[in-house]
Amino acid sequence: MKVPFFVPDLGEPEIEEVVTTLRSGWLTTGRRVRRLEEMFAAAVGAPFAVAVNSGTAALHLAVEALGLQPGEAVLVPTMTFAATAEVVRYFHGMPLLVDCDPVTTNINLEDAERKILDLKAGKLPSVFSKTVSVAGIIPVHVGGLMLNIDSVRDLSSRFNLWIVEDAAHAFPSAWRRASDQAWQFCGNKTAAVSCFSFYANKTMTTGEGGMAVTDDGNLAERMRLMSLHGLSQDSWMRYSDNGSWDYKIVAPGFKYNLTDIAAALGIHQLPKAEEMRQKRERLAQLYTKSLEDVEEIELPPSDADRIHSWHLFPIKLRLDRLTIDRDAFIRELKQAEVGCSVHWRPLHLHPYYENTFGWKPEDFPVATAVWKRLVSLPIFSAMKEAEAEYVVATIRNLCARYRR
Ligand SMILES: *Cc1c(COP(=O)(O)O)cnc(C)c1O
Repeated sequence: MKVPFFVPDLGEPEIEEVVTTLRSGWLTTGRRVRRLEEMFAAAVGAPFAVAVNSGTAALHLAVEALGLQPGEAVLVPTMTFAATAEVVRYFHGMPLLVDCDPVTTNINLEDAERKILDLKAGKLPSVFSKTVSVAGIIPVHVGGLMLNIDSVRDLSSRFNLWIVEDAAHAFPSAWRRASDQAWQFCGNKTAAVSCFSFYANKTMTTGEGGMAVTDDGNLAERMRLMSLHGLSQDSWMRYSDNGSWDYKIVAPGFKYNLTDIAAALGIHQLPKAEEMRQKRERLAQLYTKSLEDVEEIELPPSDADRIHSWHLFPIKLRLDRLTIDRDAFIRELKQAEVGCSVHWRPLHLHPYYENTFGWKPEDFPVATAVWKRLVSLPIFSAMKEAEAEYVVATIRNLCARYRR
């Protein structure tokens, strides 16, 4: 059997809507994008949603709207994708990398605080010597397991930081506060701006796309403005039926608008996002039940106080119990035609971050050690139970064969 790492769950409604869009003659931003924005805002419980052509664009616009200045630092987890930190560099900001939690691999907020204090004490690599202030934090809910939002907020209020969420994995995801048992969905006031991705392998897709969500009307207005060349609000209206030929440039913006062709996919993906999540949750349960007795691996945590999007199912190899390392383990999975991935090689172990900022592996002991143990297994709503069972059998075989 061959099990791919991910296959998008596209039905006839998505395909028909794209065809209808093509036949309509209106390909770029228009009615379908507006509809997707309204639907998405309602789904997460936010007043404003700005559709863009990638999750990275959403992060870029969020940081721009919050006014990041050259030389200011922003706390960014080292355990993330390129996008989370590169948007800070777009403004010549300083990504202040932070170690991760050994179990969830989410940002470790105690290390975040330590990094702020190290900056003040002059204990960071020398490129940070001219950095005087930390402006914000960009947490990532890795795999769709949300951080404790109150803890993020506590840190941000003590150090006066804005919060932009990299919510690329977190739709739909929610967390529950222990004190009052209140559920809060990611995007419902969980950050100043929450940035979602609709990339091809994310929990809902538009091929390429993203959404910046906020409850601050001024931030929403600035992000909308900058998403289309900095054309004033009334100019943006030229994409509507009663638009005019005239436009006014009020800022040097970007070209980040989503197309109606892409939104055509989104308006049919979104209503089934929770159903797709439940299918992934059942697969996660199947993996967990069938692998929990395998002592050579650790399974990803779940939490009764979280609605987990299960975008990823990352296992951790117990290298002390195996005779092969992670890379060899992945070669074996490939041999068995099981698709897998690694989330992620931490940023501080990439040449750009190492060379530019002078980070050392010891600055992030947890991420440095844990990443060599990570393997993300296939998990997607279109996956069949038999496929998950084949993955389970393959993992069990490998662990038996290479048991120390
Ligand atoms: C996918 C992803 C992004 C970027 O999203 P794009 O839509 O591909 O630009 C950002 N952060 C994380 C953690 C991601 O996984």
